[in-house]
Amino acid sequence: MTKADFSKIPSVDVLISSPKSSKLISMFGRPLVVEAIRQLLEEIRGHVEDPNFQLPTPPIILKQVEQKLEKWTSAKLHPVINATGVILHTNLGRSPISKAASEAMAVVSQSYSTLEYDIQKGKRGSRYSHSEDQLVRLTGAESAMVVNNNAAALLLILSALARRRRVLISRTQLIEIGGGFRIPEVMKQSGAILEEIGSTNKVHLNDYQKAIDELPIGLVLRAHRSNFKIIGFSAEPNMKEIAEITHQAGLILVDDLGSGTFIDTAQFGLEHETTVQEALEAGADLVCFSGDKLLGGPQAGIIVGKKKLIDKLKKHPMARAIRADKAALAGLSATLLHYLKDEAKSTIPIWQMISMDVDSINKRVRNWIKVLKTGELIEGDSAVGGGSLPGELLPTYLLSIKVEKPEKIMKKLRQQEPPIIARVQDDRIVFDPRTILDHQEKDFLSSLQKAFA
Ligand SMILES: *Cc1c(COP(=O)(O)O)cnc(C)c1O
Repeated sequence: MTKADFSKIPSVDVLISSPKSSKLISMFGRPLVVEAIRQLLEEIRGHVEDPNFQLPTPPIILKQVEQKLEKWTSAKLHPVINATGVILHTNLGRSPISKAASEAMAVVSQSYSTLEYDIQKGKRGSRYSHSEDQLVRLTGAESAMVVNNNAAALLLILSALARRRRVLISRTQLIEIGGGFRIPEVMKQSGAILEEIGSTNKVHLNDYQKAIDELPIGLVLRAHRSNFKIIGFSAEPNMKEIAEITHQAGLILVDDLGSGTFIDTAQFGLEHETTVQEALEAGADLVCFSGDKLLGGPQAGIIVGKKKLIDKLKKHPMARAIRADKAALAGLSATLLHYLKDEAKSTIPIWQMISMDVDSINKRVRNWIKVLKTGELIEGDSAVGGGSLPGELLPTYLLSIKVEKPEKIMKKLRQQEPPIIARVQDDRIVFDPRTILDHQEKDFLSSLQKAFA
């Protein structure tokens, strides 16, 4: 830029009074537009020593201002199209929720609500009341409580019931779930003392008995291996047996189910995941699980079990710090209603995906190929994912498109609106219809056409 150019850089005042700026102000508000113009002019002045830099004209400057404003104001958290076939994709927000659940969340957020108000009595109520009856009816538990997430649920249980006391857990269950959530560290946080028994691959009932006989144990914990499997020379006593000796000694048995399901997963050709009802029947005094894994609801931590224990949890100071918010409570309640009405498999997206019949998936891929005029149909696998059913796969059909540089196309796909997240398999990009929601299919196809154009 020449010296003469430098003196020609327009002022903020000149730029802000242009018609284009009026339009930007109506879209983004005056303070943000002024800030964007200031920053851009600053950047231009930074090129004062650069002989190759050409001073942009005011319309070009304002175009760049607009781009800045769009970048600053674009939502950072927005929907994506999950074509990976991983149903509970932790990085993509775990379970999408049902229409009824999302409507319930919106409605309760837009107005005042009965969050902590008892309509019958006309006075203060409890935020714990909303899903308690539903959970009790669904699981047969004496009582229930909902907190912010399952990690918080476990932390609360250990803090309230086992602080400065020994918690017995098998070495086969000293798990890390991800995001730094490790059972030994959660124990430390809660003030409980970890008492490990057994070996990495095996634990016997006798190990439990011996520890209970010899040490002042406060609580016995079982944690579900949500994201890995032990295969080969391995064994654990069943929960009924552990419950028996735990209760004989007058101790509390807690089962962290992780995912927690009300529906038997074996009916879909998957391994049987212990249901919440089964965990209670086996003798767990408290069972905790997530709201947004196999339950298919919003983020929440659910605790069901003995009333005496849950009353204690509700009164603990930590409960206030990890309470669930009203939108999540409304969404969870609507989700639980699907289970009560025995319509979960047809209304909750993740169960629709898990139970999707392969012929219909095959048809969808064929239809895509017709529309796109490219790609081929291949066999593949979908995964349940998200800390449930490790290694379990569901047979599926994929749209497979051969490309020269998969990473380049994958990036293009991520730049679409909404972004498409797919999988690379060899030198192909594959798309699994199972996890693409009906209302996203039109956008998916038009974005695919753009990305491959
Ligand atoms: C997923 C999981 C958790 C954590 O649950 P969040 O709802 O993600 O907090 C805890 N324990 C087990 C066994 C899990 O699988």
